[in-house]
Amino acid sequence: MRILVIEDEKRLASFIQRGLKEQHYIVDNAYDGIDGLFQAETNQYDLIILDVLLPGKDGLDVCRQLRAKKNSTPVLMLTAKGGIEDRVSGLDAGADDYLAKPFDFKEFLARVRACLRRRQQDKATRLKAADLELDQLTHEVVRAGKEIKLTATEYALLEYLLLNAGQIVTRTMISEHVWHHDFDSFSNIINVYINYLRNKIDGGYPQKLIHSLRGTGYVLKG
Ligand code: CA
Repeated sequence: MRILVIEDEKRLASFIQRGLKEQHYIVDNAYDGIDGLFQAETNQYDLIILDVLLPGKDGLDVCRQLRAKKNSTPVLMLTAKGGIEDRVSGLDAGADDYLAKPFDFKEFLARVRACLRRRQQDKATRLKAADLELDQLTHEVVRAGKEIKLTATEYALLEYLLLNAGQIVTRTMISEHVWHHDFDSFSNIINVYINYLRNKIDGGYPQKLIHSLRGTGYVLKG
């Protein structure tokens, strides 16, 4: 879990950073709104801790600009002010939660965990491509409203292809991620499983989702 802390008060920033690192989170810091926005757009974070009063660009602007660009990383806003108006403008700007300073660090950590949990649930449940859906919690696979029964290996292979939808997935990547070891001399087994999967997922449907790239690997495209 990687967290970005955008906070200009250096003492508070290093206190938050230390506390989060003790909980085994990976933490990056930014000390103004412009650098914060840049880091948030450049790297992948699981959570952003965002102060409202910041030099350069305030926290509300940073949050609005992230949401305008479809960045859905959860944002936990911090502010010195605890008024209802500030709380409302923070949430309107797209923040997921709000904490007024000074805060109790235990409560802060509980909010961090809650934001990360919601994020996991949103992210982890359903993968989609065209009319194909895979539910990572129930392991149900549905195409055009019809349930498709897969073996454990077929499921793992499809999930991996869907997690990388639109990108080339090589045989090496598949053997490492689906079978957890590299067996290039037996790579025929991947072709065999891709064919099983293709029959179940694409058989009988005019739109094919699984495509082979000769000599390279596969791509799932919706
Ligand atoms: Ca501040």
